[in-house]
Amino acid sequence: MQIVKYGDPVLRAKGARIEAITEEIRNLARAMIETMREANGVGLAAQQVGHALQLTVIDVTGADDRPSTMLVDGKEVDLEEWSPMVLLNPVLELGPEKEMGAEGCLSFPNIVSDVPRSARVKAKAMLLDGREVEFEAEGLLARALQHEVDHLNGVLFIDRMTSAAKVSIAGKLKRLQKSLAR
Ligand code: ZN
Repeated sequence: MQIVKYGDPVLRAKGARIEAITEEIRNLARAMIETMREANGVGLAAQQVGHALQLTVIDVTGADDRPSTMLVDGKEVDLEEWSPMVLLNPVLELGPEKEMGAEGCLSFPNIVSDVPRSARVKAKAMLLDGREVEFEAEGLLARALQHEVDHLNGVLFIDRMTSAAKVSIAGKLKRLQKSLAR
C-alpha cells in the first residue's frame, strides 16, 4: 500500500471506532503489516494508508538497539509471541514519568527528532480475533504505542515535539512540504 505523507488531510482525521471485525478489516490489517515491514517501520496507523479508522499495527521486535518490555497481568511476556500486534480501538493510560527519545514517522520521510513521551503506558485494545486485551509497555513499545494512538486521533509527532525540536526540523519540514506539493 502507498503510505500517505504529511499534508494529506486524512492524517488529521480522527479514526472511527471499529465495531465489527469484517474480512475487509482483516485484509486491511494484513496489508498494513506488509507495508510497515517493507518500509522498515515499527508501527503504522490506518490513517497512514488512507483510512480514518481506530486500527494500528506495531512490531518493535526488529529494533534490537531499543529494548521493549510488555507485561500482561503484571508478568513479562515474550514480545515475539505478540508480534506483529494488530490493535483495534486502542486506549492508553499514560504513566507520569516522561523520557526523551528519537522518533521518526513513515509519513515524514527523513525527519527524526527527540520527542518527550511517557516511559510507561497501560493499553487497552481489541485484537483481530475479537479478544479484549490489557497490557503494560515500557521502552520502545511504549513510545510506539503513544505515536500510533496519536495517529488514530489525528495527532502527529510534530505536535508533541518541544519548541526547540520544532525549530531544528523547520527547514526539513518546509522542504518536505514543498517536495510533496509538486
Ligand atoms: Zn507516524
